[in-house]
Amino acid sequence: MDEKKIQKKLLDFAKKRDWEKFHNLKNLAISISIESSELLEIFQWIEDKNINEHLRDKTFRKRISEEVADVLLYLLRFSEIANLNLEKICLDKIKINEKKYPINLSKGKSTKYTDLNVLKK
Ligand SMILES: [Mg+2]
Repeated sequence: MDEKKIQKKLLDFAKKRDWEKFHNLKNLAISISIESSELLEIFQWIEDKNINEHLRDKTFRKRISEEVADVLLYLLRFSEIANLNLEKICLDKIKINEKKYPINLSKGKSTKYTDLNVLKK
């Protein structure tokens, strides 16, 4: 994915509508949360055992694709305004998570790092 290309298109989209004035970090953070919730809403009443069946449905895939795109677009806009290097911050966070979740303590478990006793190993 070429995030710079998408960020340029997003900025162009916003400029043409005079929406740049609304794109501050607070509004964008709120928008990221709202769009994440819209994605969650799609799954709200679906039983776990039926999710794969839904994933084969074209309309369902379109709905989740649009919400994933909404989340990502706001993240890209947020990152551009905050001058975040997405590749660097993602790779840095994976390193942090590797320390939080050592394989020997976390493999096969969904336990939050705070309950893994990482410091006691
Ligand atoms: Mg949406």
